[in-house]
Amino acid sequence: MKTIIEPFRIKSVEPIRFNTAEQRAVLLRKAHYNPFYLHSDDVMIDLLTDSGTSAMSSDQWAGIMHGDESYAGSPSFFRFEKTIRDITGMPFIIPTHQGRAAEKILFSIMGGEGKYVLSNTLFDTTRGNIEFSGAVGIDLVCEEGKHPTVAAPFKGNMDTAALIKEIERVGAGNVSVVVMTVTNNSGGGQPVSMHNIREVSSICKANGIPFFIDACRFAENSYFIKKREAGYESKSVEEIAQEMFSYADGCTISAKKDAFANIGGFLAVHNEELAAKCRNLLIITEGFPTYGGLAGRDLEAIAIGLREVLEEDYLQYRIRSMEYLTEKLVAAGVPVMLPAGGHAVYLDAKQFMDHIPVNQYPGQVLACELYVQGGIRACEIGSLMFGKYDIDGKLIPAQLELVRLAIPRRVYTQSHIDYVAEVIIEVFANRHAQKGMRIIEEPPMMRHFTVKMEKIG
Ligand SMILES: *Cc1c(COP(=O)(O)O)cnc(C)c1O
Repeated sequence: MKTIIEPFRIKSVEPIRFNTAEQRAVLLRKAHYNPFYLHSDDVMIDLLTDSGTSAMSSDQWAGIMHGDESYAGSPSFFRFEKTIRDITGMPFIIPTHQGRAAEKILFSIMGGEGKYVLSNTLFDTTRGNIEFSGAVGIDLVCEEGKHPTVAAPFKGNMDTAALIKEIERVGAGNVSVVVMTVTNNSGGGQPVSMHNIREVSSICKANGIPFFIDACRFAENSYFIKKREAGYESKSVEEIAQEMFSYADGCTISAKKDAFANIGGFLAVHNEELAAKCRNLLIITEGFPTYGGLAGRDLEAIAIGLREVLEEDYLQYRIRSMEYLTEKLVAAGVPVMLPAGGHAVYLDAKQFMDHIPVNQYPGQVLACELYVQGGIRACEIGSLMFGKYDIDGKLIPAQLELVRLAIPRRVYTQSHIDYVAEVIIEVFANRHAQKGMRIIEEPPMMRHFTVKMEKIG
């Protein structure tokens, strides 16, 4: 088989500013060993997130110029609305400035004290909005999803036996909504099968519980279904996406992922009464219903991006990019999460830095070293992000110590990715020279964003 090439040409470029390992060591020390404090123009390859970092197409930029900024009734909104109705089959479309704004509106209405929200895995802002409303969020990912090196086709699936048990335990009347995250971002960008979506949907129906999809990466998930699930080989990705949405009562989406937009999100629902309640909140927190939290030009960029992301040449290249990097790392013996996910490659830092105990944050050590050695910015997803303390102040570590290399859409070429692999392999060869880290200052919540650290010894 020939190389799967980037299905685009480059019309406009952004320079990368090169710096040396010595300069980066100084910059990182000044950033308190927290890559979130780095200035992005000091980063050569930025894999911190795939959110809002996509390259827009020439059609999207043209759409930006077509954007109609009327306060009410903008044609840009109607194009946005029609595109989303076509893909989701949902009649009520509510634009918001990001995915979390859609979540905030939804859970202000559907959450609250005494309520439960069940999920495969809730993304952190989703969980944040659920808990802020007073409700409790519970993750019920399938067993394979808990083991980073066990290869299985749909590691994002929900454990349906656990779902039924949990509904019985808390009472169906107390479960305000079941949320399926596709692909499962916090679980490594692993996909959910159509079979699982259908099953969860019917369990919800039987119990009178609304079923929602957190659909930020709906196109990547649909492509995995086409490639991995029997009966979907010859369906178009759009048809698969439509079927996925057909099982849901509503969805929340961040347009900063699969919609190739730099900002935006929306909420879509079937129920008119719920839509009316959401719009009332929208007006006081985001804006009038035909623009929500967005400018007309953003609505255009999102509508065009949602069409482009369903193109199979793009999705083939996208999913192949993750596999390509994963294969190179596996061949060099680097421990990575398997199989490759849809938007990121995850290094298993516990194995990678097996000489550093978890209370010295091996994932952060690795993320920092990728920056010093190669100017690559990655994100620790381990005990720095999710660790808690027991009553004696001892660290309760996270289940996994991962470092995420999130790949922005349509931004980096194969040679950039080859370079990333070379740097990781070099850091792996010299890993035993690395020392652990300790925290010197941390906030009470979401500490990974603003924590300050130092090297031990
Ligand atoms: C990014 C993301 C969100 C939140 O969207 P924002 O636009 O960042 O507010 C919610 N769920 C998932 C799965 C995400 O990846």
